[in-house]
Amino acid sequence: MAAPGPPRLLERSRVPPHLQFNPFVLGGYRPASSGFGCLRSLFYLHNELGNIYTHGVPLVGFLLLVPGALPRAPPAAVAWLGLGHYVACVAPPLASVVYHVFMSHRAGAGLYRRLLALDLCGVALVNTLGAVPIIYCALPCRPGPCGAALAAYGALCGAALWGAVGAAGRGRRLAAFAGPALFRLAVVGLRGAVGLGARRALAPYARMEALALLGGLVNVARVPERWRPGAFDYWANSHQLMHLLVALGILHLHWGVAADLHWAARHPCPTA
Ligand SMILES: [Zn+2]
Repeated sequence: MAAPGPPRLLERSRVPPHLQFNPFVLGGYRPASSGFGCLRSLFYLHNELGNIYTHGVPLVGFLLLVPGALPRAPPAAVAWLGLGHYVACVAPPLASVVYHVFMSHRAGAGLYRRLLALDLCGVALVNTLGAVPIIYCALPCRPGPCGAALAAYGALCGAALWGAVGAAGRGRRLAAFAGPALFRLAVVGLRGAVGLGARRALAPYARMEALALLGGLVNVARVPERWRPGAFDYWANSHQLMHLLVALGILHLHWGVAADLHWAARHPCPTA
């Protein structure tokens, strides 16, 4: 017996309200389905397919390539930083793929809200863990001040996640992450001024911030589909562009952190 073909796709007005969040994506919606049906949608064209693969392919790349770029047999502190960095690189695309694959599950709005929270947790993890090596290399071998800076940054990230989960709309969700971003920029600026950590890490860090901001703005503006509603339902809409910019941002974060961790491995703290 032949396998069933892909299901008939739906117009925007035929899907539940919680999936109608982009008024400029008019068609190509998957019908509600079981978990297996959601997984089967990996193999036919619909309006979430680009969102799934623009984070699915980077996810595989980060899983395979990040460990090999980190120092081999480093001191314990650097090894822990490397492990946190690996989680920071993998968490956002992994959470995003799960969100986009299962958002059309027939369990409805309740499951959708949990998936959206998971997606935001991935962003929060790269925000939090991603910055730890940046801060560590600003205050190397000074556990007191470094711990205080990390605690302050962690509190800012917690407040950002709280604000993002409760935000009404994409603009406020983006604005919620401004506090941690300004803190990171201040640390990168300070490091540039005093010359601590790997100097060649600073440019990738600055590019990462620019890419993340650009991705967020594109997503908020809903460009280009705003200009031609329905023409970008499947490819090249704002959410896919945001995914690509975020993946590029994580790649730049990785380049910066890899340089910093090699620097930290070459400058171990003196033992008492
Ligand atoms: Zn997404």
